[in-house]
Amino acid sequence: QTGANDLQTKADRMVQMSICASLARKFPKVTIIGEEELPPHDVAEELIEDGHCEEILKKPCPPQYTGIKEEELVIWVDPLDGTKEYTEGLLDHVTVLIGIAYGGKAIAGVINQPYYNYEAGADAVLGRTIWGVLGMGAFGFELTEAPAGKHIIVTTRSHSSALVNDCITALNPDTVIRVGGAGNKIIQLIEGKASAYVFASPGCKKWDTCAPEAILHAVGGKITDIHGNSFHYNKEVKHMNSAGVLAALRNYDYYASRIPNTVKQSLVP
Ligand code: AMP
Ligand code: MG
Ligand code: MG
Repeated sequence: QTGANDLQTKADRMVQMSICASLARKFPKVTIIGEEELPPHDVAEELIEDGHCEEILKKPCPPQYTGIKEEELVIWVDPLDGTKEYTEGLLDHVTVLIGIAYGGKAIAGVINQPYYNYEAGADAVLGRTIWGVLGMGAFGFELTEAPAGKHIIVTTRSHSSALVNDCITALNPDTVIRVGGAGNKIIQLIEGKASAYVFASPGCKKWDTCAPEAILHAVGGKITDIHGNSFHYNKEVKHMNSAGVLAALRNYDYYASRIPNTVKQSLVP
């Protein structure tokens, strides 16, 4: 545990070791940035994953990406997004996030939801993987728009503040959904459960937004900070998204235009 607001469990460490070591073995020139700071040591061989997904490799690579060199890619890894909720047993809030950036832009991402369906009974398939590539689309879920004319805001469950709540109040929502995880909140947007993700606070990091951003943008949505600035994912970038998060699948401009100036002034990028 690194702090009450910033938990780290054995699961966070093991999953990060598995993902980062597996990727580094297969793609030694890629820059991999994971959330957890782990002491360098040999990773147990049983944690190395060397399989691949035939279904994904069958799809043609968008032409704008065929010339990319391995060393030009940055992979942002959140081994367990929604740790607070995980420790409280809210297992379906948890996601594993792997985002791929090129030229500072999120171009591909994976959101794995390991406990999807965990309450759906023994016949249901546990877990799912949502993935997307900019210019190709996103897969592993059914793209659904939120109910028209309703403003359903999804936001943090465990990192609220007066500013977070004031910003939401100013948007005059019909409903506010409070769930854990940045990955989980983007799932709420692309499955039509919420119309906008609003988080007027620092706290969220580049590994929280890279994979979700690639998937949301692949289906025509938009994610920025609370000012409307796009995020950058080059390896030198500051990890913290200091000026919060604003995202929507549709009608992003509606929500962006209603963020109060007082809120914007409180959040310096
Ligand atoms: P949440 O919506 O609260 O689940 O936050 C989304 C992501 O940002 C999670 O990875 C959180 O750990 C992280 N996060 C948000 N706010 C904070 C904070 N105040 N301190 C530490 N991490 C935060
Ligand atoms: Mg996270
Ligand atoms: Mg995490």
